[in-house]
Amino acid sequence: MSVSDPNISRETPVIRQLDDAAINRIAAGEVVERPASAVKELVENAIDAGATRIDVAIADGGKTLIRVTDNGCGIAPDQLPLALSRHATSKIDGSDLLNIHSFGFRGEALPSLGAVGKLTITSRAQGHDAATIRVTGSATDPVKPAALNQGTVVELRDLFYATPARLKFMRTDRAESQAIGDVIKRLAMAEPWIGFTLRDVSGGGEGRVTFRADAASGDLFEALHTRLTKVMGPEFTSNALKIDAEREGITLTGYAALPTYSRGAAVAQFLFVNGRPVRDKLLTGALRGAYADFLSRDRHPAAALFLECEPDRVDVNVHPAKSEVRFREPGVARSLIVTAVRAALTGAGHRASTTVAAETLSAMRPEMTDQPRVYQMDRRSGYAAPYTPSVQARDAAYAAQAPLMDAPGFAEASMPSARFEPVAEQPQLDALPLGAARAQVHENYIIAQTETGMVIVDQHAAHERLVYEKLKHQMAEKGVASQALLIPEIVELSDGDAAALLAHAENLARLGLVIEAFGPGTIAVRETPAILGEINAENMLRDVLDELSDLGESQLVQEKLEAILSRVACHGSIRSGRRMRAEEMNALLREMEATPHSGQCNHGRPTYVELKLSDIERLFGRT
Ligand code: ADP
Ligand code: MG
Repeated sequence: MSVSDPNISRETPVIRQLDDAAINRIAAGEVVERPASAVKELVENAIDAGATRIDVAIADGGKTLIRVTDNGCGIAPDQLPLALSRHATSKIDGSDLLNIHSFGFRGEALPSLGAVGKLTITSRAQGHDAATIRVTGSATDPVKPAALNQGTVVELRDLFYATPARLKFMRTDRAESQAIGDVIKRLAMAEPWIGFTLRDVSGGGEGRVTFRADAASGDLFEALHTRLTKVMGPEFTSNALKIDAEREGITLTGYAALPTYSRGAAVAQFLFVNGRPVRDKLLTGALRGAYADFLSRDRHPAAALFLECEPDRVDVNVHPAKSEVRFREPGVARSLIVTAVRAALTGAGHRASTTVAAETLSAMRPEMTDQPRVYQMDRRSGYAAPYTPSVQARDAAYAAQAPLMDAPGFAEASMPSARFEPVAEQPQLDALPLGAARAQVHENYIIAQTETGMVIVDQHAAHERLVYEKLKHQMAEKGVASQALLIPEIVELSDGDAAALLAHAENLARLGLVIEAFGPGTIAVRETPAILGEINAENMLRDVLDELSDLGESQLVQEKLEAILSRVACHGSIRSGRRMRAEEMNALLREMEATPHSGQCNHGRPTYVELKLSDIERLFGRT
């Protein structure tokens, strides 16, 4: 203990009861971390009060003013002082903490807010006159008559004025406003039938509406679809798959996006348990597991998922702000998410995100950059840096039009690598989703014609995925078929690497890769997966090693095997540079159509881009 601790004297300590003001301030430390947490508590109260319209106004990032207006049931005048006292709630009677149907139940938000800001509640309950109460620090004014038609207005001014230490931790107005927006959006997703607005009144007057979502109508999925379109954007909903599953009394509903609609950070993952937005490691881990097979580890799926179960199967009382929950049977929740999302992705077949085409077009044509740029490929320039296709596009165009002698290495350039297939009319192929192959360019891209436009396939990426899907299928059936090498390949590694591989020898054998110790730090490769044909065993072993060290100990065996398999698959693929005949190209297209998950490669990048005729016309400014 530090000698100069001013709060503790050297004499025998005296234990004393803290006064209410101090208790409330301490509690507020947990509940009200920043303006957004105050907004969360107040909006949740409005939802609990049965409101159908909730309007939030803030000034200066919520630091000087937060006002939440609702049309809910209101509070009777004689109840107002109670609402402000600690552990006073209308939502539970305290007998059963495992049967909670409301957002609130701890009865501490309002007293806490009153302790750290200037709080005024004005309310009118049915059959009562409107009344108002004010609390500043620890002093509560008496209830006074007021004017209000219906519902409740809670106004919180000068948050943390009484706790300057907290004030210092506040971020910029912009950052705090953004956090408030996030809180409202999450709650708006959970309650599609309630209308929300957020206004910034920093400049005074009516202010500026920064978010608005009108009450959605229709059944659950219709309302949710409307609301998610509003909150996450139309690109999300048009690329999202409906999830509707149940297991052992837990239901899972919502939308999960195609892997090609993934993001560079976990910014588009929204999880709810019994209507409560949660950030929960168990659940986000399950979501990651569901996509593990389709996304590289630096890509993050987009989804809004809602778990519902009997309240007694989750404990919501494990976190003061209630943003974490504890499941009684965490395994059921996890496997429900993994299997339901995987099943939906399998059902999507070869489909790739529609945003791929928009992204392609805007890369080709600078004027199109007003398109929402949602499909975020890994750009070397970084996630947020503005993308300027115009420069690259212009350079490429100049290079293409320059006289041949000026082009570096024009000897190669003068040998066109595009090959055209005789246009034997095959209308029946045109009608198929990926169309009829017409040409192969740069020995890697297949151009196919469809009824409504054209498709460009990255043959290397597509083939890699097809091989992977076949390997997985084999693994599930009876282990991957392997092929014995005539002469075992001897690979020299470090002692540690060799040991790490040998430790997994049994699992690797299930993947068709049979290895054994050959000497210190040396491994003999005896069999390789048959489907891959002739491969460089050393390169493959090094890739498997990388994968093993990336995976660590956390993943389940099945997920590990799949991750390794996905690396293995890369080795047998048609590398770019392989010429293909028309029949081969068409066979590849047909196989893609028939194979689930073939719309993206093992890293979540699209394997093909579809351009509709209307897209192509726009490219040439024809529309
Ligand atoms: P809790 O929400 O945990 O019950 P709070 O301190 O947030 O605790 O609120 C205390 C009580 O005040 C609530 O139980 C509720 O009865 C009442 N109350 C708070 N906000 C509202 C509101 N917007 N409309 C109607 N009643 C409200
Ligand atoms: Mg509350």
